[in-house]
Amino acid sequence: MREIDVKQITETVKNMCIDANYELSEDMKKALLDARDKEESELGKKILCQLQENLEIAASDRIPICQDTGMAVFFFKVGQDVHFVGGSLQDAINEGVKLGYTEGYLRKSVVGDPLIRKNTGDNTPAVVHYEIVPGDKVQITCAPKGFGSENMSRVFMLKPADGEEGVKNAIIQAVKDAGPNACPPMTVGVGIGGTFEKCAEMSKEALTRPVGQHSELEHIRAMEEELLTRINKLGIGPAGLGGRITALAVNINTYPTHIAGLPVAVNICCHVNRHVTITL
Ligand code: SF4
Repeated sequence: MREIDVKQITETVKNMCIDANYELSEDMKKALLDARDKEESELGKKILCQLQENLEIAASDRIPICQDTGMAVFFFKVGQDVHFVGGSLQDAINEGVKLGYTEGYLRKSVVGDPLIRKNTGDNTPAVVHYEIVPGDKVQITCAPKGFGSENMSRVFMLKPADGEEGVKNAIIQAVKDAGPNACPPMTVGVGIGGTFEKCAEMSKEALTRPVGQHSELEHIRAMEEELLTRINKLGIGPAGLGGRITALAVNINTYPTHIAGLPVAVNICCHVNRHVTITL
């Protein structure tokens, strides 16, 4: 059994919150550069150049890429041979978020009660998805999520008879409805199968898959490619002001489901698709 002190988790989470908000991952940087080169609309190109400049300033001056520094979302893949010592893991994660958002001067965007709506003042609590995996490592992905795009995300409880066409239409409809509100160019995370909550979680995790890395399933890969082409023909474009590049990627995760259902979740992320992964 490998012991990990939760203090290490706090420190790691703190740094990940700051890093994710100051600089995009290499895959996202490359995707945005490629988008700038491919965009045919003059205004769209100009916007992509401005986004590029914004990214460069954020990285060099160590300031947030966007004023909406998101709700702190984490995926923890915990090896079953790991024993956390020194306190509660969940408390350690929240302490790291608190320190990261305070020391990194990141906007505190979380309200403690969804109806009373008083800001918690330190961006806690985080939303943490845990998975127990074989081994003695801990893989942590930090993906702060802005709510301009989060608000445009959807879950569709389709019928099996809706089939593949029904799934594609639902995804396209979600992107059309999101339009400029999701701060395009977007990454479209999709979960197909499982249950109501499983497909939503899969769609969120799909956003953390590097842009350009496709599903290993041949039919899903084909669907990702087809949907990206169709979405980029919608004409929404960068910032929703028209153009070819509406989305950078469509990432689909799947899971077995019930004979009577076909759940589909679409989690849309804006051009600030933040995700950092480390392994302890
Ligand atoms: S949706 Fe994204 S780009 Fe838009 S305001 Fe929020 S974090 Fe910023």
